[in-house]
Amino acid sequence: MAKNVYKFGNGQAEGRADMRNLLGGKGANLAEMNLIGVPVPPGFTITTDVCTTYTKEGRDAVLKLINDEVKDAVAHIEELTGTKFGDKENPCLVSVRSGARASMPGMMDTILNLGLNDMAVEGMTKKTGNARFGWDSYRRFIQMYGDVVMDLKPKNKEDIDPFEEIIEAMKEEKGIEQDTEFTVDDLKVLVLRFKEAIKNETGKEFPTDPWEQLWGAITAVFDSWMNDRAILYRRLNNIPEEWGTAVNVQAMVFGNMGDNSATGVAFTRDAATGEDLFNGEYLINAQGEDVVAGIRTPQQITKEGSLRWAKLAGVSEEERASKFPSLEESMPAAYKELNETQHKLEEHYQDMQDLEFTIQEGKLWLLQTRNGKRTGAAMVKIAMDMLKEGKIDEKTAILRLEANKLDELLHPIFDTKALEQATVIAKGLPASPGAATGQVVFFADEAEKYENSILVRIETSPEDLEGMNVARGILTARGGMTSHAAVVARGMGKCCVSGTGGIKIDYKTRSFVADGKTYKEGDWISLNGSTGEVYDGKVITKNPDLSGDFGHIMDLSDKFTRMHVRTNADTPKDAQVARNFGAQGIGLCRTEHMFFEGERIKAMREMILASDEEGRRKALDKLLPYQREDFEGIFEAMAGYGVTVRLLDPPLHEFVPHQQATQKELASEMGVAIDVIRSKVAELEEFNPMLGHRGCRLGNTYPEITEMQARAIIEAALNLKAKGVDARPEIMVPLVGTIKELKLQADIINEVAEKVFEEKGARIDYKVGTMIEVPRAALTADEIADVAEFFSFGTNDLTQMTFGYSRDDAGKFLPIYIKKGILKNDPFQVLDQEGVGQLVDLATKRGRETNPKLKVGICGEHGGEPSSVEFCNGVGLDYVSCSPYRVPIARLAAAQANLKQG
Ligand code: ADP
Ligand code: MG
Ligand code: MG
Repeated sequence: MAKNVYKFGNGQAEGRADMRNLLGGKGANLAEMNLIGVPVPPGFTITTDVCTTYTKEGRDAVLKLINDEVKDAVAHIEELTGTKFGDKENPCLVSVRSGARASMPGMMDTILNLGLNDMAVEGMTKKTGNARFGWDSYRRFIQMYGDVVMDLKPKNKEDIDPFEEIIEAMKEEKGIEQDTEFTVDDLKVLVLRFKEAIKNETGKEFPTDPWEQLWGAITAVFDSWMNDRAILYRRLNNIPEEWGTAVNVQAMVFGNMGDNSATGVAFTRDAATGEDLFNGEYLINAQGEDVVAGIRTPQQITKEGSLRWAKLAGVSEEERASKFPSLEESMPAAYKELNETQHKLEEHYQDMQDLEFTIQEGKLWLLQTRNGKRTGAAMVKIAMDMLKEGKIDEKTAILRLEANKLDELLHPIFDTKALEQATVIAKGLPASPGAATGQVVFFADEAEKYENSILVRIETSPEDLEGMNVARGILTARGGMTSHAAVVARGMGKCCVSGTGGIKIDYKTRSFVADGKTYKEGDWISLNGSTGEVYDGKVITKNPDLSGDFGHIMDLSDKFTRMHVRTNADTPKDAQVARNFGAQGIGLCRTEHMFFEGERIKAMREMILASDEEGRRKALDKLLPYQREDFEGIFEAMAGYGVTVRLLDPPLHEFVPHQQATQKELASEMGVAIDVIRSKVAELEEFNPMLGHRGCRLGNTYPEITEMQARAIIEAALNLKAKGVDARPEIMVPLVGTIKELKLQADIINEVAEKVFEEKGARIDYKVGTMIEVPRAALTADEIADVAEFFSFGTNDLTQMTFGYSRDDAGKFLPIYIKKGILKNDPFQVLDQEGVGQLVDLATKRGRETNPKLKVGICGEHGGEPSSVEFCNGVGLDYVSCSPYRVPIARLAAAQANLKQG
């Protein structure tokens, strides 16, 4: 029979760190911490498999399945803690915590102090001699249980939590501000009112039987796996539903037992910058998520951190030392143990750790450790620092990086000059670095209102996730460096300034006041997530510096890679940007863009609208010098590397004028009647232009277009050769489906090339190849490779034609398909390895059987997407090609793929 429950406690555990798939990240690490001698309250973990069974077979089946094991595991906690579950004198209290394989911060709610009821609270009070503590724990339990298990948590953004409402009313009645100021009697009244609220809202009594409480909480965790927030988070982070969550039940330790108790969170290094500095926040006499929730201003753990915080927050040393001392100062012994533990954990896991701890009457307990989320900059610095420290080797350093996160480092920062001129209107905490400028919105679901929005909130909650994802930056009035907004923003790599006390937000009027000025929705502000500064209006941004650690990572990537990375670039400028990022060649240079600028479009239209070959040739002669000039620029920017130029591809009607005025202008220029133009435009209309007269179908119907383009390419290369520049053209015929289509085009190209060589009395090397984007071409790749010297997978069209999804219309159904689980990902973003991937694999193999020297690459959007890059490495492609800003990501991903696949 499968084991469903894994116990831990007192230096022993049935689980281990490498069992995270079964025990979830939290459960696996709770077990591991026990095994390496870190103090952790005893408990047990119900496996993720049970969650899957729960989703499939429902509550009753699961309760039967795990009943005996849970009973046995509770007895294990009782034994180790010397308490009794449900006992009125010496009650055993537990927390019930969710924990999936991948960490999902704030996604599922934890219930603390479970096991309390009207009698047990008296027992607790007597046992500890601390009535305040007993009743505070009890009211917290009812609140959490009511919110999570009995579903009283507000569903609407305007509503407030019914329990918070009661607390606020009570504070007002009492004329107090902090919840630590409640007396025991106040807390007793709160308990009564909470229970009443539950009765009123649900018609049910708050359950007093601890076993009923426990089963309710366990099943609530399983239910929470399927709640909207969790589903959204999984979608944003590509976490499959099948993984499920584990449930951890653990003996309570109490940070709210008085002034020698505390709770906090900490990072072994700085998650924003990567600096090797232990840091974190704590609150005295508090419990659970108090630090993160921003209820009181949290204090810093180290003295160093505290001094830095005070400086940023404008708090005097006197005030800091008396009101906000660090843990290092206020509880030196517990701090010492915590500091030793953090070293031990980082040493053990060989990565930056994110810790949660509680101090009960001076005694330290660890409640969680995991590899900490970090910004792209911190990711790079930590990996490179650990490499330098000799803690990890080069391969580990490379494999540890998340390629997509490099993106954050490539994006703009504020222009220093512009910044000097900017007016600071407020200062908060530098919660997540970067620069953002945008228009103010106050509600997460309105973040899409502007192209660049800044979400301004008093504080954020998991409900705001989607809006945070859309916004350019996040500004909160409350909450510290570990508040929800800060942690989530860092995970997203999004600029965030938190805890900005100087701004007063009014949701009703959709405005905030800062520095005496009122900002309304839609007004522009700018955020500096690295300093915490908030600026009035727009502030210009500029490109970041990419040397140091970043350069080191790129060098290491090249050391371990097999594939090359090229770029998709249509202009010398893009080519240069990509080259600076380390691109080795151009995998796709589209020529159609070259026909749009200025005079060119006129000649292009003339060519299209000409009634015979002669007319077309006349117009093409005008286009030739423009094309040649463009190619010279691009070949020069990529000198020494191959440049794949794609011949004209889009349907011609994309170039013709559709408006009356432009049609008229063109008519007079060409000396024809406007009707002639109009009917020609109408003639070019197609039912399915994507499947119509385009690609090599153009070159095969109008060979003179191919002639002109081939001539422009060869002449450009020869001109450069004369100047001593090494140009390496690779001419690519698009949308080939049959060998004959390619053969006829190749013949034209080769004939033209010979002619030009003769005219100029010089030769250069060039290649002729094809894009593989029609499924038939992939299937007949062996024949096609007879003529083609290279293949480049155009996976945008190949995906479109393999699925039969129009790329331009898929937006109507793809989101629904993904939501329903029909598709895991958008196949236009992430290569469909199962289907489209088969064609890529097969065409590569068949092509190379015919021509072992065949060069094979990919130039669709997928060329810069890490999982697709990994696939390309696996099937043996020679290179991937992607947009300039994705080049560093693809270089890292290519190295990682090669290291993983050996
Ligand atoms: P999340 O997954 O949202 O981080 P956790 O399960 O870690 O939620 O619980 C949140 C917090 O609740 C913890 O950081 C810790 O402070 C507190 N907590 C959980 N279990 C216990 C416990 N057994 N004793 C004391 N505090 C606990
Ligand atoms: Mg936690
Ligand atoms: Mg195409």
